Parts: sequence; structure tokens; C-alpha cells
Amino acid sequence: MPTLQDFKRPQSVAEAVAMVREGSGRGGFVAGGTSLGLARMVPYDYLVDITGIGLNEIRRDGESVRIGAAVTIGQLAISPVLAIGELQFLMQAVLSVATRQIRNMATVGGDLISGYPMADLPAAFLVLEAKLSLAGVDQETILLRDFLDPAVSRGLNGGLVTEIIFPVPPPDSRGTFIKFARTENDVALFDLACLVRLKGDQFEEVRVALGCTTPLPLRLTAMEEFLQGKRVQAKVVAQAVELATQDLPILDNIRGGRTYRKQMVGVLLRRTLLASVGKGGGSR
Ligand SMILES: Cc1cc2nc3c(=O)[nH]c(=O)nc-3n(C[C@H](O)[C@H](O)[C@H](O)COP(=O)(O)OP(=O)(O)OC[C@H]3O[C@@H](n4cnc5c(N)ncnc54)[C@H](O)[C@@H]3O)c2cc1C
Repeated sequence: MPTLQDFKRPQSVAEAVAMVREGSGRGGFVAGGTSLGLARMVPYDYLVDITGIGLNEIRRDGESVRIGAAVTIGQLAISPVLAIGELQFLMQAVLSVATRQIRNMATVGGDLISGYPMADLPAAFLVLEAKLSLAGVDQETILLRDFLDPAVSRGLNGGLVTEIIFPVPPPDSRGTFIKFARTENDVALFDLACLVRLKGDQFEEVRVALGCTTPLPLRLTAMEEFLQGKRVQAKVVAQAVELATQDLPILDNIRGGRTYRKQMVGVLLRRTLLASVGKGGGSR
């Protein structure tokens, strides 16, 4: 296992990528350092700091939002760019991450891509259909949902994520985010994000994602397809929840057994959907 010997401060994206490459693959990027700080042994010889290379901006670009990968979760929480009704659920997700102290160090890029199993942001960004901009590898962008597969992200090893980009949801969308944890500041047992558009009394479009209770965060596509065009009714929602939970690969670990999680995920999915259509509460 290597021991950490150096900390480099590049001035640009190109310099950061070159610095990581120059030590024959023994260097790694560091942003907030909160995830690396949890590691018993940092798996690099040296770290390349990406907080001073211009990846710290949040901006609206036409119908898209672009978030620099080194923006802290705390910066997101106070960004006027995100202070619109359609993104209120994203703000709920942001404010559910750890404590203010951690949010002020941890970056959005780090939370999405470090593979931290209890990360709260992936579910919210999955329903936003976010993509990541990359530097230092052949591919320029990748969908977050593809990147979350470790087999895919391993293939992009040495690549730097520079931005998170997503289209602003249409103004008639309603979103909900629920984090369910044992205490206010604990890591999640369940994260649920939902974005719904209605046409009259029917579901026009439904996007639902789950985090922290399956091996990887995922979109519940069977449920989404089932609901499209259906009437907004409690029995329809119950059928959709049944369909979604049938074959879910639910975790079974020290934080929660599979039987408990399977039952709770159904309850929370129903609550999340009903809250998104204005028929119930959407808090923890
Ligand atoms: C006490 C504590 C409580 C926590 N609670 C929560 C919680 O409730 N919810 C939650 O979601 N998270 C929680 N976290 C996790 C925290 O949010 C993540 O660790 C953090 O978001 C990771 O971001 P970072 O900038 O600190 O990453 P770093 O530690 O700097 O990096 C993590 C990994 O990602 C790589 N990396 C980082 N940025 C990039 C990039 N742009 N491109 C390529 N590779 C990159 C690094 O090389 C490293 O391997 C907690 C962490 C701690 C320490």
C-alpha cells in the first residue's frame, strides 16, 4: 500500500490531469478530502488538489444548469441558481447531507462519484438525468447513471470530472426528496427522489430514483413506465409500488435487514409519489 508523499496544487484542468498522469498512475485527485479522509490508508503516492482550477462555479446556461465538480455541497445550499420551485427537491437532498461542517468541505463531484455507499446526492441527480463532463479521457461526457456502474467508472480511471450538467425540469414538474435515517445527522437508510409531471388527472412523466438501500443508486424504470398515462389514484400508486419492489436487489446489512428495508421501501415510495402529486407529506 503506498504512503502519501506529496500534495500538488495545479492552476488549471490540463495541469491537474497531467500531474495525476506523471507519476505512472500513483497520483489521485482530491477535492474536499472528506471521503479520502475516511480511508484507513489513502491509496495514492501523492494528491492533486482540484479546488483551485476553476471548477467552483454554479451557473444557468439556457435551459441547463452547470455545476463545477469542486463546488461544495454547502455552496449549492445557498445558490440562487437552484432557488426555483422545480429544483426544491434538489435543495432538500443537498440539505440532507451530513452536517454543515461536512457540507462546507465535501464537493458535489465527490459525493456523486466517490462511490460512498450512503451518498445522498446521486438519487436526486439521477432523476434530473444529469451528465458529467470529463477531462483527461477520450470521452467528453457520460450520463451519471452510466458512471455509477463501477465497471464503467473504472474504465475512466485517471479522468477528471469537471462539471455536472442537467436540464432544468419543466415548470409544471413537481419533485420530492425523502431521506430516511435513524437520526437527523446520520447517514441514510433510504433516499428517494421523484419528479412528476401531470396532465389533468394522469401521470404524464414520472422519474423515480432510489439510493442507499440497493448496492447502487438506481432509477425505477419499470415503475416509471407503468405509471405513464395512468390516472392519479391511490390504487394505481399501490400497484406501481408493488411492481417496483418485486425484484429490487435490497441490501441486508448492519444498518437494516432486507425484510425491514423491503417493507419500508414500499412505504416510502408510496409517500414520495403521493407527496409529488400533492397528496401527502414529503419529509423524512
Ligand atoms: C463524517 C461524515 C459524514 C458524512 N455524511 C454524509 C451524508 O450524510 N450524506 C452524504 O451524501 N455524504 C456523506 N458523507 C460523504 C461526503 O459527502 C463525501 O465524502 C463527499 O461528498 C466526497 O467529496 P469530497 O470532495 O470530500 O471527495 P474527496 O474525498 O476529495 O475525494 C473522494 C474520491 O473521489 C475522487 N474525486 C473527487 N473529485 C473528483 C473529480 N472531480 N474527478 C475525479 N475524481 C474525483 C478522489 O480522487 C477520491 O478518490 C459524509 C462524510 C463524512 C466524513
